[in-house]
Amino acid sequence: MLLSPPHIGNLELEFIKTAFNNNWIAPAGPQIKLFEQEFCKAVGASHGVALGSGTASLHLALILAGVQAGDEVFCSTLTFVATANPILYVGAKPVFIDSDYISWNMDPNLLAEALKQRARIGKLPKAVILVHLYGQSADIDPILATCNYYGIPLIEDAAESLGATYKGRSTGTFGHIGIYSFNGNKIITTSGGGMLISEDASLVARASFLATQARDPAPHYQHSNLGYNYRLSNVLAGIGRGQLRVLDQRVAARRFNYDRYQQSLGHLSGINFMPALRCSQGTRWLTSLTINADEFGVTRNEVRERLLAHQIESRPVWKPLHLQPLFSGCECIGGAVAEKLFQEGLCLPSGSNMTETDINRVISVVSPPVLRPISMATL
Ligand SMILES: *Cc1c(COP(=O)(O)O)cnc(C)c1O
Repeated sequence: MLLSPPHIGNLELEFIKTAFNNNWIAPAGPQIKLFEQEFCKAVGASHGVALGSGTASLHLALILAGVQAGDEVFCSTLTFVATANPILYVGAKPVFIDSDYISWNMDPNLLAEALKQRARIGKLPKAVILVHLYGQSADIDPILATCNYYGIPLIEDAAESLGATYKGRSTGTFGHIGIYSFNGNKIITTSGGGMLISEDASLVARASFLATQARDPAPHYQHSNLGYNYRLSNVLAGIGRGQLRVLDQRVAARRFNYDRYQQSLGHLSGINFMPALRCSQGTRWLTSLTINADEFGVTRNEVRERLLAHQIESRPVWKPLHLQPLFSGCECIGGAVAEKLFQEGLCLPSGSNMTETDINRVISVVSPPVLRPISMATL
């Protein structure tokens, strides 16, 4: 049983056939525009450009925000490495910000304090990247207010939170730029892909230009800027159009998984499920919980190994980026909360195609009576 496998609906193949029938097997074609329009409608964004990956979208977002070599970018520390890799692509320096226990996401107070100090010494970052971890929204309002106060662009990494809302509005649409991912393990997939959105049409047009090798308008091939090959294929945009039709069902299924896990395991001493802000509705992309070994009697690692022995994939919560060898020497503001969540946190299988039997099997393996020492016979 996998953590988060792809889950294809009924229309994807039809849209792929359309692409084949009119020979748009290219990183251009009619389905791309339609996918962008339908996606923007789904999240309530004004402009969007479909790209090759969420990572590529973040890379272009940083370029659009004017981040250059030597600049600093503030970034959530508790996240997947793809959130921060693009900071290194542009030669900038990440400064990581710790989470709080209320949201597991960037602590708004820590950010406000850090920016206040930086303003005092005249060394503000060029951008802030905010992650909505595992599909649950960060506390966006105070974070956006702080960024606006100092005139710093906020980039929302909503790769895991497509379908989530904060105060009734889609995550990813609050910041100056938002990005999403359609990787195979995300809420919906195009096998690989991403989207960059903004209210500013000129930013999105610029992203599209940079993603198409920055070709100047001329009959010959003329280039004045450094460009990239970051556009999404028209075939994959077709998959995305089909996936968008079932987005609400996919989110509902993942939220259902979380509820079932919570009902069966939430009362156990030492187990705490990832919270969600009351003003938000998360996607529960991955059901995540912490295991306090003293109270539960078994460590997080033992639970993970026991699941593995039953061919069930589970994963520790993301290792904070300030602990990653790749980012050694980078500054981190706070860090203890993310470290604790990494030590105790576990993500359970959460695919939208899980059956009731699958969920019950995970629950029975995690539940204490089954967690007696593994006898060789059961392996
Ligand atoms: C998956 C993911 C990304 C990267 O998206 P890709 O489409 O795989 O490049 C970025 N940030 C977070 C938080 C992710 O989970």
